[in-house]
Amino acid sequence: MSLPSEIDVAIIGAGAAGLGAAHALKDSGLSVIVLEARDRLGGRAWTVQAGPDVIFDVGCGWLHSANKNPFVAIAEQLNFEVDRSLPPWGDRAFGDVFPQQERIDFIRAMDAFYERIEAAAKSGHDSAASLYLEPGNRWNPMIDAISTYVNGCELERVSILDFDAYEDTEINWRVRRGYGALIAAYGASCPAALNCKVTRIDHSQARLLIETSQGRLNAAKAIITVSTNLIADEAIRFSPALPEKIDAAAGLPLGIANKVTLALDHAEEFPKDGNLRGATMRTKMGTYHLRPFGQPCIEGYFGGSFARELEDAGPGAFAAQSIDEIAALLGNDFRLGLKPLAESRWAHDPFARGSYSHALPGHTGDRAILAAPVDQRLFFAGEATSPHFFSTAHGALESGQRAAREVLAAAAKHRA
Ligand SMILES: Cc1cc2nc3c(=O)[nH]c(=O)nc-3n(C[C@H](O)[C@H](O)[C@H](O)COP(=O)(O)OP(=O)(O)OC[C@H]3O[C@@H](n4cnc5c(N)ncnc54)[C@H](O)[C@@H]3O)c2cc1C
Repeated sequence: MSLPSEIDVAIIGAGAAGLGAAHALKDSGLSVIVLEARDRLGGRAWTVQAGPDVIFDVGCGWLHSANKNPFVAIAEQLNFEVDRSLPPWGDRAFGDVFPQQERIDFIRAMDAFYERIEAAAKSGHDSAASLYLEPGNRWNPMIDAISTYVNGCELERVSILDFDAYEDTEINWRVRRGYGALIAAYGASCPAALNCKVTRIDHSQARLLIETSQGRLNAAKAIITVSTNLIADEAIRFSPALPEKIDAAAGLPLGIANKVTLALDHAEEFPKDGNLRGATMRTKMGTYHLRPFGQPCIEGYFGGSFARELEDAGPGAFAAQSIDEIAALLGNDFRLGLKPLAESRWAHDPFARGSYSHALPGHTGDRAILAAPVDQRLFFAGEATSPHFFSTAHGALESGQRAAREVLAAAAKHRA
């Protein structure tokens, strides 16, 4: 769609949040456009065909808290098959690289750690989650590794109050054709201008003046859904400046999580949806999903400072590290049966600059500050503004719907 010169509501970003907002405004009578810097819809939700038989979600893959996740109903409406089989973490360890007794011991240590955080959060005082590791516990490095997957960073950078506010119903499903493909299909009917990078929003006059790579447009209201790292870095400049938004976004940085998929020879020798993780006692390690949906591949997941290091090492580093780790766990012969197909590099992605948000210790309140409207004209959404489902695609969707309701309420007040 080409850029109009006047619009009622400009939505910045066509990720789950922006598309959720656009859908919620559809029958409102307001004119709406989604301005998206990329050449595609979905943002951090992105499915690619990585090999002839391998569909790969480069970003989000799991319908977390699936029994409360609105994308399940959307998938059903759009005829995207939802796979309800159990996730590979938990009981699906492959081989004997992480023996069952060791796993039981590890899970016990991790559960006790989570209970200490929950108890501490009840006091209402914030602190770093790393303080609740039991000194000397041999599983501490692995508990920290799990944090790098869940939060995108090590526990010392995680607020316990924020961690405790996250709502996990522990039901995790998937979309057979890809979560990214689902979100792109959901957005297909929304009016969107692609390759349209917003650089500046002037809110000093009665109408907003939005500067983009495709020219300027005037809008009555805007919903801003770009990631916290982009707001904190002032990738979009606001005039006058919005220092409280920049500070709040800086308190909610994106952690780093990256994925890699490797083609697997003789795949039939491996279980469908198995998990491979060594009891390596290191925080710097990947975790591996064997044959997701039965596909002939292994998917690796890396997080935190290790994911950053590998990204900085350049393209191909996740694949090389995965092949080395898998060969170390299963034997050097496996090396020959693995071929790199695709990998993500989200910290280097100019329109994300990271993977998903976490609150730094002392900063859980920043989610509400970031979400608050400015002058009933600038509205903020995106996963980081979700009070309980931050860091997820459904949290992003719901935040967009919430921002749309705020826009409608403000418009109604203006008319009254
Ligand atoms: C590796 C990885 C794994 C994940 N796994 C899961 C998972 O299993 N389950 C889950 O629920 N979530 C997961 N997530 C998180 C989930 O993908 C995100 O929380 C969600 O997609 C964020 O949606 P959003 O709309 O808030 O932001 P985004 O998707 O980032 O959307 C913002 C949009 O704004 C655009 N934009 C940026 N700057 C500009 C600009 N200047 N002008 C115009 N447009 C701009 C961007 O291109 C983007 O399309 C994962 C993420 C990653 C990276």
